Amino acid sequence: MLPLLPLLPLLLVFLVVMLLVLYRREGHEKLWLRLPTLDEYRQASSQPAEQPLNCKYCHSEQTWEYGLESVMDYRRECACLACGKRLWRTEQASMPVS
Ligand SMILES: [Zn+2]
Repeated sequence: MLPLLPLLPLLLVFLVVMLLVLYRREGHEKLWLRLPTLDEYRQASSQPAEQPLNCKYCHSEQTWEYGLESVMDYRRECACLACGKRLWRTEQASMPVS
């Protein structure tokens, strides 16, 4: 036990950093869960299903889908390229294999 005593401050710093990372990650997911799903967004917009969805804020058709925390994240969200507002969320079960 005595040889580990000098490592105690380092261990405490590591635990604090891990708690901050987990807290931040949970915050991103909470914001993501507040977005409407793609189906909810489409129903609220009353646009025909065969047309691309427009931004409900500026009516732009230019949208960008990205992973919540990384490129490969299954939690996807879509934002408007014109005004930058976050529009809807989707889940992608697996990335396509080419
Ligand atoms: Zn927009």
